[in-house]
Amino acid sequence: MAQPEKVILYTRSEIARRVKDLADQISRDYAGSDLLLIGVLKGAFMFMADLARAMSIPCQTDFIRAASYGAGSESSGTIVITKDVDAEIQGRDILIIEDIVDTGLTLRHIVDTLKLRKPNSIRVCAFLDKRGRRKIPFEADYVGFSMEDGFVVGYGLDFNEQDRHWPDVYVIPNPV
Ligand code: 5GP
Repeated sequence: MAQPEKVILYTRSEIARRVKDLADQISRDYAGSDLLLIGVLKGAFMFMADLARAMSIPCQTDFIRAASYGAGSESSGTIVITKDVDAEIQGRDILIIEDIVDTGLTLRHIVDTLKLRKPNSIRVCAFLDKRGRRKIPFEADYVGFSMEDGFVVGYGLDFNEQDRHWPDVYVIPNPV
């Protein structure tokens, strides 16, 4: 099958360095706390695995999955949780791990939903942030890389469920 054109954006060594910086910062910020990492499936699986292994403090891990209903790749604003967290949230320090913040709609919904369960704190760590694309105001607390608009794949991010396993991140200039 023909592969779309792709341009490298972040290499595996740049990613590893940035993930280590984030892990060090998170380890300092959450030292002594009851930390639960919640990865947003599927895109965050690789980032979360690397981040958790680079951290120097104990934590628990769980996952959540959300679907966005809309036309094509555009979020409509209707977000539904399709796999909920198993772990107890109340009274705990929650760090949501996401692959990319785009419109902000998915994370807004996840954060608002989990806040209802009365965590002690809730923050977001996103591998990538497309700041210019927001439909609503949303700030991640930890960001790996801020980028311009463009469709990215690799390191967990997919193109029609392909390419998640690539260790580097690429931009696909003309995704179809
Ligand atoms: P939001 O609700 O912030 O618009 O959407 C976030 C979700 O959209 C991400 O978790 C990701 O699944 C998907 N997404 C947004 N931008 C990209 C991109 O450039 N590449 C890929 N593969 N997925 C993206």
